[in-house]
Amino acid sequence: MREISTEVIREALLDCVRRACFILMPDVRQKLEESLRTETGETGKSILRQLIKNAEIAAAESRPLCQDTGVAVVFLEIGQEIHLTGGSLEETVQAAVREAYKKFYLRKSLVDHPLNRKNTGDNTPAMIHTRIVPGDRMKIGFVAKGGGCENMSRIGMLTPSVGCRGVVDFVVQTVRDAGGNPCPPVVVGVGLGGNFEKAALLAKEALLRPLGRPAELPADRELERTLLKEVNDTGVGPMGLGGRTTALAVHVKSFPCHIAALPVAVNLDCHSHRHVETVL
Ligand code: SF4
Repeated sequence: MREISTEVIREALLDCVRRACFILMPDVRQKLEESLRTETGETGKSILRQLIKNAEIAAAESRPLCQDTGVAVVFLEIGQEIHLTGGSLEETVQAAVREAYKKFYLRKSLVDHPLNRKNTGDNTPAMIHTRIVPGDRMKIGFVAKGGGCENMSRIGMLTPSVGCRGVVDFVVQTVRDAGGNPCPPVVVGVGLGGNFEKAALLAKEALLRPLGRPAELPADRELERTLLKEVNDTGVGPMGLGGRTTALAVHVKSFPCHIAALPVAVNLDCHSHRHVETVL
């Protein structure tokens, strides 16, 4: 049994929040620079330059990449040979998020009830997804998920008869309907299969994969290539003002499903794409 103290987890999460909110991840920066070379519209090019400049200012001055510093989404993959010491894991994560958003002066964006809408004042509760896996390591994934892009996400309980074309049409229409609201260029997470809740979770997990790394399954890789082309053919473009660069990447994550079902979830993330992973 390997022991990991919740204090170590607290410190790791503080660092994840800081890096995600202040530093544009290298994979995103690289995709923005590649897009600048392929974008054909002058408005699109100008916006992409501004996004790169925005990231440089954020890193140099320790300022958030965006004023909406999002809902804290935390993925924990916990090796089954780990013994956690030092108290409750759930409370450690919530306390770390509380501390990070206060310490780094990040906007608090959570309300206590969807209808009452009173701000909780500390950006908690974080959304925590826990999985027990083989081994003695612990992987922490952190996403600061903005409201604009999350609002444009969709789930469709399609039927198998629509086939691959139906899935592509659903994803592309979701991006088209979103227009400039999710602050494109977006990263498109697609959860394919499972059931209603599994598809949504797959779509969010797909966002954590580094940009440029293809899906594991050949069928998912093929679908990613088709989707990226068709999404960029919509012409939505950077910030919805037209152009080639509507998405930096499309990530598909699939799972077996019922013979009568074809669930597909689309989780959009904006150009800041604040995702960080660390392994303890
Ligand atoms: S969608 Fe992203 S870039 Fe746009 S306002 Fe929200 S967090 Fe900021």
